[in-house]
Amino acid sequence: MNNIEKIKSMIRDIPDFPKKGILFKDITTALKDADTLKITIDEFYDIFKDEKIDYIAGIESRGFIYGMPLAYKLNCGFIPIRKPNKLPAEVISQEYELEYGKDKIEIHKDALKKDDRVLIVDDLLATGGTAAAAVKLISQVATPVGIAFLIELKGLGGREKIKEDIKIVSLVKY
Ligand code: AMP
Repeated sequence: MNNIEKIKSMIRDIPDFPKKGILFKDITTALKDADTLKITIDEFYDIFKDEKIDYIAGIESRGFIYGMPLAYKLNCGFIPIRKPNKLPAEVISQEYELEYGKDKIEIHKDALKKDDRVLIVDDLLATGGTAAAAVKLISQVATPVGIAFLIELKGLGGREKIKEDIKIVSLVKY
């Protein structure tokens, strides 16, 4: 079994969570296993080690889990992309559409400068609403160079929703 097959084998499917009809990809089983956790971060590292990343921006909350060890390994800083009203200092925000209504993500206004090269991290790419908003948010103040996911659910149009010309990477695809 190669690394990607190993990671895939450690992700658990939970039917009908959080509501009927959704097949939830549970990453807690992949996080719990020391070997799987290590090879996951190593795989991300190998893909981005030569991209001169200045900061990882992790999307709350599962993007924090994978983003932080990757920042440590890439020897760069970490910036949290948070849900509204969580950050204490002045923020910039980006709205995006949900199935019903709108949501918003935020970073600190002084977190980044225009030339900073940023890699965005999240656990899963589905319809791409969150990811596209994160790329737009980072584009407002810095230079997004890539976005990395542990999992991509193909056929939901997520990849197509990200309009900026950046590297879109997912380790495991369904
Ligand atoms: P989306 O904006 O549709 O791409 O959804 C992305 C976010 O929703 C990710 O950050 C995931 O944490 C979560 N998500 C969406 N679909 C699933 C799923 N089938 N299993 C687990 N998490 C999901």
